[in-house]
Amino acid sequence: MPAALKAEIDKSFRVDTIEANDVSVSDGGLTEKTLHRLGDGQLVESVLMHYPARGFAGAGRPLHRERHTLCISSQAGCAVGCPFCATGELGFGRDLETAEIVDQVRHAARRLAPSGRHLTNVVFMGMGEPLLNLDRVLESVEILSDPREFGLGARHIVVSTSGVVPGIRRLTALGPQFTLAISLHAARDPLRDVLVPLNRRWPVAEVVAAARDHARVTGRRVSYEYVMISGVNDTDIDADALARLLRGDLAHINLIPMNPVAHTPWQASSPERVAQFAERVRHGGIGVTVRANRGQDAGAACGQLAANRAGEPAAPAVARRRESIIRASEAAMLGNRSTEALPADLEAAVALRRPRR
Ligand code: SAH
Ligand code: SF4
Repeated sequence: MPAALKAEIDKSFRVDTIEANDVSVSDGGLTEKTLHRLGDGQLVESVLMHYPARGFAGAGRPLHRERHTLCISSQAGCAVGCPFCATGELGFGRDLETAEIVDQVRHAARRLAPSGRHLTNVVFMGMGEPLLNLDRVLESVEILSDPREFGLGARHIVVSTSGVVPGIRRLTALGPQFTLAISLHAARDPLRDVLVPLNRRWPVAEVVAAARDHARVTGRRVSYEYVMISGVNDTDIDADALARLLRGDLAHINLIPMNPVAHTPWQASSPERVAQFAERVRHGGIGVTVRANRGQDAGAACGQLAANRAGEPAAPAVARRRESIIRASEAAMLGNRSTEALPADLEAAVALRRPRR
């Protein structure tokens, strides 16, 4: 191609929406976390996790093939503001463009290519609430599924939501494009009002009803994420409420010990408590997996690297935040629903997405 034409093309089309990437590796090379700087300086992150082949299926073949899963962001920051999540603490920046979502995947694919490996799974579990940026998420899923692009099937793409009910219903109408995960974290409204503030708009029963319809219409199992926080949502009462809520559903629960986050007073449940909780829920007839938490040493908790870059929060601000979280969770333990309004950013995001009647 003539140099002048190439220069003209380079000037007219941006080939990469990401300006800079900062990679940190942990878990002995199994986890690679990348902080991406976008054109306007916003920071988002993705995490590439390598799972070696394991088990024997005979004839020298592994039972489970090796996997390379990329966790990507759909927004810079997040308006939902879950108090155990570093991204939530950052607040909302902006929606990502389709190309900014896909370029995180291109970046990981480029890192894998020299060693002959390729991405097997993509999960929308990084920064942001995908169902509050649904048009762009759907466009990027189309590109990820395109056999001429990444060729990932519906089984290999997971979109996780904190419970945007109209978004779930819209996905159900579109049919199976990917696997839906619901961030539940509590089966009781008073506690979920605190852990996932969106619950004050769409309570747990509405979220689960929408997920149930999704499973019925698409024939695909819905998975539920449940971050385990010591003494907050990991009691026997919570386990029984969870089993009761999902009894008979086409569902699976992933229990995730909480990654420590500076502004919360909370800690992860102990491995023994997680095992007892899992057993109790399983006894109620629901499938449960305990997930290992990847990349803690590289700050792989949702949004943590970007939060570190934003600077350490001032000690008085952290103390105030901790106190308000303790007050809210004490009220929840007494069974009181939250009377707090949604934060302004979240109210705006939700109002924009409310379906027309
Ligand atoms: N906003 C969407 C998707 C991104 S969050 C959602 O909430 O579903 C992806 C997952 O990371 C969620 O299940 C969330 O609960 C989890 N997560 C956030 N903070 C965490 C922490 N401190 N420890 C463990 N998991 C966390
Ligand atoms: Fe947003 Fe998900 Fe973090 Fe909640 S857990 S603040 S919804 S990114």
